[in-house]
Amino acid sequence: MTDAAPSDTPEMPFRRAGRSGLDLPEISLGLWQNFGEANALETQRAIVLRAVERGVTQLDLANNYGPPPFAAETSLGDILRRDLRGRRDELVLTTKAGYRAWPGPYGDGGSRKYLLSSLDRSLRCLGVDAVDVFYSHRYDPTTPLTETIGALETAWRTGRAHYVGISSYSATRTREALAVAADLGVPLTVHQSSYSMLNRWIEEPDDSGESVLQVADDAGMGMVAFSPLAQGMLTSKYLDGVPEDSRAARSGPLRPEYLSDENLARVRALAAVAEARGTTLARLALAWTLRDPRVTTVLIGARTVDQLDDSLAALAEPELSRDELDAIDAQQGD
Ligand code: NDP
Repeated sequence: MTDAAPSDTPEMPFRRAGRSGLDLPEISLGLWQNFGEANALETQRAIVLRAVERGVTQLDLANNYGPPPFAAETSLGDILRRDLRGRRDELVLTTKAGYRAWPGPYGDGGSRKYLLSSLDRSLRCLGVDAVDVFYSHRYDPTTPLTETIGALETAWRTGRAHYVGISSYSATRTREALAVAADLGVPLTVHQSSYSMLNRWIEEPDDSGESVLQVADDAGMGMVAFSPLAQGMLTSKYLDGVPEDSRAARSGPLRPEYLSDENLARVRALAAVAEARGTTLARLALAWTLRDPRVTTVLIGARTVDQLDDSLAALAEPELSRDELDAIDAQQGD
């Protein structure tokens, strides 16, 4: 039936997503990069099956992951059919719409037309009747929030999504979305945002005087933290140049300007904290993001099974000391 090992995996701790009933593994796997048409299906399959075997129950997708769009969902659909038959209900599958997924006015943004068409296409690619979470991938200033959140409500009421959430909304926009959702009677269960030792924007108050972390926590939303390794920058791999097989060497989302002297100096200082603790920078980075109980799960990426295993070892990290936290705070950017 499956190559993946038993479904009871005691080593993975779970956290409750806010005030919902949904438990998520502390470490979840995202399929944004490394699951496209250019990546060997056998490697993709090995990573997903290893993750499931290790108790990573949440697999995070979006319509535009791969690349190209729908490639990651098509791949995962194939893996679900071939290797995980009968195990769908043991997994939390999430998807999103909000960025460009197909040409023309209906393939981008926050309209009802786009969100619901995209969700249906995601379900077909995955070969499932429902996803567990459907997100508005980003706030769209050109579409009324009532329309965007109304589309989430439809997805939820029609059972195409068991829960719904928002991604990368500011504190102000999150408050607005929560008010619309409350009017419609649909809970926004999770907020997905970037968060790492190098990128702490969700801690910072915006013009409303509140931070995303505060607003989400207040509302009982779970916080799903993405790119906790800052796309690989928090793994020491860039300290001696750009390795040929790394994300920064490909033209993609890890832009060369991120590897500035200033950022690399911060990474070097953080690597020293990891070394003094006897661990790797990647493990320190994940343990740090998970130190805040308001964070329900960290969404990691992996290009190889070894990277996945390396990151999962972070679950065994002892708590960070006050001195270590202070040393990490000292590297906070602007
Ligand atoms: P990470 O910060 O975990 O970066 C992952 C990358 O870092 C890997 O692909 C690999 O890149 C490198 N890496 C990972 N582990 C190791 C290791 N142990 N040693 C050395 N290098 C390592 O996360 P991502 O940026 O990939 O994002 C994770 C997920 O978050 C996405 O898949 C997606 O689900 C979600 N996300 C959501 C967004 C949103 O808008 N909602 C936006 C972005 C991400 P390399 O190729 O260099 O080896």
